[in-house]
Amino acid sequence: MAAEKRNFQAEVSKLLEIVVNSLYSNKEIFLRELISNASDACDRLRYAALTEPHLLEGGREFRVTLSPDKEARTLTVADNGIGMNRDELIENLGTIARSGTAAFLAQLSGDARKDVALIGQFGVGFYSAFMVAERVEVIARKAGDANGWRWSSDGKGEFVIDEEADSAPGTRVILHLRAGEDEYLDPIRLRGIVKTYSDHIALPVVLVADGKEETINAASALWTRPKSAIAPDQYKEFYHHVAHAFDDPWLTIHYQAEGAIEYTGLLFVPSSRPFDLFDPGRRQHVRLCVRRVFITDAAEGILPPYLRFLRGVVDSQDLPLNVSRELLQTSPVIAKMRAGLVKRVLADLKRKADDAPEEYLRFWTNFGAVLKEGLYEDFERRDELLDLCRFDSSSQDKPVALADYVARMKEGQAAIYYLTGDEGAALKSSPQLEGFAAKGVEVLLLSDPIDEFWPAAVDAYKDKPIRSAAQSAGDLAAIQAPDAAAESGEAEAAPDLAPLLAAFKTALGEQVREVRASERLTESPVCLVAADGEMSIHLERLLRQHRGGAGERTARILEVNPKHKLIRRLAGQVEGAPERVAEAAHLLLDQARLVEGESLPDPIGFGRRLAAMLERGV
Ligand code: ADP
Ligand code: MG
Repeated sequence: MAAEKRNFQAEVSKLLEIVVNSLYSNKEIFLRELISNASDACDRLRYAALTEPHLLEGGREFRVTLSPDKEARTLTVADNGIGMNRDELIENLGTIARSGTAAFLAQLSGDARKDVALIGQFGVGFYSAFMVAERVEVIARKAGDANGWRWSSDGKGEFVIDEEADSAPGTRVILHLRAGEDEYLDPIRLRGIVKTYSDHIALPVVLVADGKEETINAASALWTRPKSAIAPDQYKEFYHHVAHAFDDPWLTIHYQAEGAIEYTGLLFVPSSRPFDLFDPGRRQHVRLCVRRVFITDAAEGILPPYLRFLRGVVDSQDLPLNVSRELLQTSPVIAKMRAGLVKRVLADLKRKADDAPEEYLRFWTNFGAVLKEGLYEDFERRDELLDLCRFDSSSQDKPVALADYVARMKEGQAAIYYLTGDEGAALKSSPQLEGFAAKGVEVLLLSDPIDEFWPAAVDAYKDKPIRSAAQSAGDLAAIQAPDAAAESGEAEAAPDLAPLLAAFKTALGEQVREVRASERLTESPVCLVAADGEMSIHLERLLRQHRGGAGERTARILEVNPKHKLIRRLAGQVEGAPERVAEAAHLLLDQARLVEGESLPDPIGFGRRLAAMLERGV
């Protein structure tokens, strides 16, 4: 087959342009990326060879070699791992398959400083080689294949792929260094970079220079070393490798479980959100090893989806090395490890929440919405999870814990109240909260989509029922208002509202389910509420948005504030000016819709009525 020229996927070209042109401050990380890939490739072959020993072609000692060549001004990073065939070279090095890439690229602005920070967070893996190399060649032979391939590119839009007769099994990445990058030919410099970034790599990283071979890393699996022998930076670099991430770990959990089952867990909570956090697949990303041999990075059973933000390694002593996919799904060992891991992670999060509440809020902002999925998926851990939750509150300026909410509950207050809605000021000033505010009752303000679902599954926190403020205003009667004078206002004779409510219902017809007097309003004349058991207005809107705007709108209950001046006046006009009352009913319903964040079904009618009313008033 003749050499073939191909174009990079458009996204790759864009990424490469930014990588090459940005003044990336620590270019040396390219070496970490190449060694990380080489180590992954060896892990994968070691695992594949468990069932297909012939892939090893008579055995090998897995290793990564670094060979600087001062004459040719090349640095070669070679491994004897799984290798790549022609299609894999094209796919892996010519496209970006990783999910979230599109979202990432959309954020790139062309403003070099900002982009570098973003790239640092996203990582460019293999492409970082082009920061120091004007041309990169990759010579690879896939384990089990007879022929090898050569991929080569100057990173400017195209690459060439060709057959390569002279290829050892595995992958060789040859960097033709740019002018001024000679430091990467210096053995001392290379040794320093490997010590800094790749010491944790479990296989030998061997420097081949001046006719000598020398292993320049510790070459033992980091998680098997005692905690006291591991520096924070080593944990960090291992996290970068295992997570393909570039931020700092927010929390590191490293422990050995002994007893009925034995395993080592080295888990990290990232300090920023991974790009695929809300992918529908909800895949988890912790690697499974068996006695240090890498098995898979997709062992779904090992952690529940609501902990999918975790990265790291779990190394089992008890599973067989040739553990199959089916076994992974049904193995009691996996189930036990999972129970142990969940327990440990939740306990460590709790400790952090207690000891460093401010820092904990950073975690909560990133991953709270994911953790809350556990509230309806993990019945056994529900109480622990509820203790880890933080919620915005109508009375506090920082997210609050339920325990603190309960401590602040008013005398006579029977339940924990929450209100769902779109994030922002509108939720905090919702008319639904007026009655609660008047009684000094705190309401949790929930704005994650998941908040529409979990309260239905969690009926109580420490025997305090959890109720929607939009549905339970009636309970407020039992609570003493902080200021008794506020209460005395009610003594003022309330007008008979029945004729007005009936007139409103007649005017609005099927647009409302019911019109009734409100106990929750103190300032606003009207508001919309959902009937008991009915989908909330917010959830209905979320679902509509999800379907691109299509979908029914349920007729809601219109609540009317008997104490409001406007309502009192209208009550006196039901007989005398029925058209005005009808007009006011339409305007007030539209107002209530707007306050809920709903769009108006008839904006033209709204405008006409408003203008007519203003005209009379001016
Ligand atoms: P990532 O490592 O995060 O997947 P990279 O850009 O570093 O992203 O690498 C892209 C892909 O190229 C890898 O996922 C792997 O499939 C392949 N690859 C890179 N280097 C090697 C190697 N030395 N041996 C085998 N495959 C490799
Ligand atoms: Mg990589």
